[in-house]
Amino acid sequence: MSGQALDVVVVGSINVDLRLDVAAIPRSGETILARGMQRAAGGKGANQAAAAARLGRRVAMVGAVGDDDAAALVLRRLAAEGVDTATVAREPGSTGTAIVLWERPESTIVVHAGANAAVTAEMVRERAETLRRARAVLCQLETPVEALGAVVATAPGLTILNPAPAQGPLPHDLLARFDLIVPNRFELGNLAGAPDEPRTLAEVEAAARSIGSGADWVVTLGDDGSLVVPGDGGDAVHVPALPVDAVDTTGAGDSFCAGLVDALLDGAPLLEAARWATRVAAVTTTRHGAMDSLPRRDEIPEAAG
Ligand code: ATP
Repeated sequence: MSGQALDVVVVGSINVDLRLDVAAIPRSGETILARGMQRAAGGKGANQAAAAARLGRRVAMVGAVGDDDAAALVLRRLAAEGVDTATVAREPGSTGTAIVLWERPESTIVVHAGANAAVTAEMVRERAETLRRARAVLCQLETPVEALGAVVATAPGLTILNPAPAQGPLPHDLLARFDLIVPNRFELGNLAGAPDEPRTLAEVEAAARSIGSGADWVVTLGDDGSLVVPGDGGDAVHVPALPVDAVDTTGAGDSFCAGLVDALLDGAPLLEAARWATRVAAVTTTRHGAMDSLPRRDEIPEAAG
């Protein structure tokens, strides 16, 4: 895709997920037997890139993998999803690894950054030409926070931050340079430096507004849906989740972010984009796995009414 315009560049993590199906999370010092194991490509960045590609977008990934066998697995999978990996660096050492203890339907996850630690501001600047070709850039916090400043300084189009996993409050002037910020309830509370996560919709709105970055916010609330908080001071609007039989919520947030970008690139207003993202994420929760569960455009249900 060299030289061609891109819809989305994802600057973020690439992991191999070791997913262990467990009856319970072991106590400290305890050893338990898992009921099953899967090894698959994952990481918030890679999932979001694959999600946007499945929606038909031209996507490139800026990230890093190690020089181990996991690197081949994840690069092959991203390429199979149609994601351009030419700007993924190969670093000495291990590919990022997530141990996922899947205690149905929720997961407890421990991540080792591995090569993801190499996604620095310097790496982003070296890949500036790719960022400049993108209509939108999507970032998360599984790669070094220091790279975000270089992203917003370089990307000419829409900039979106999914501040996950929570890393504590971020500098106000950094957040102010993103167009859209998409945390879940816990990440919002953490960004706002609040002692507890916001519970009610009013508390969620107040927390987003307290950060006051000028960016638009869409706060995801699991099966409670999401809250759209426009940065121009317009009214916040609650978007209910779709009633579905959720079997595995892994990847819901990642597919929601990809759905948002997808609709915004079509020129949809923010609220309409959140409604589309809600339908994309709902399908994801009805299937197992992270990347495996991401829907293609023709698998997304029509809007009701
Ligand atoms: P994850 O880290 O598991 O990917 P997250 O915490 O980032 O998820 P959530 O708020 O759990 O994100 O979910 C994102 C969106 O997915 C929600 O706003 C909602 O639209 C949809 N969603 C999540 N869980 C359900 C569910 N049980 N039923 C229907 N939709 C859901």
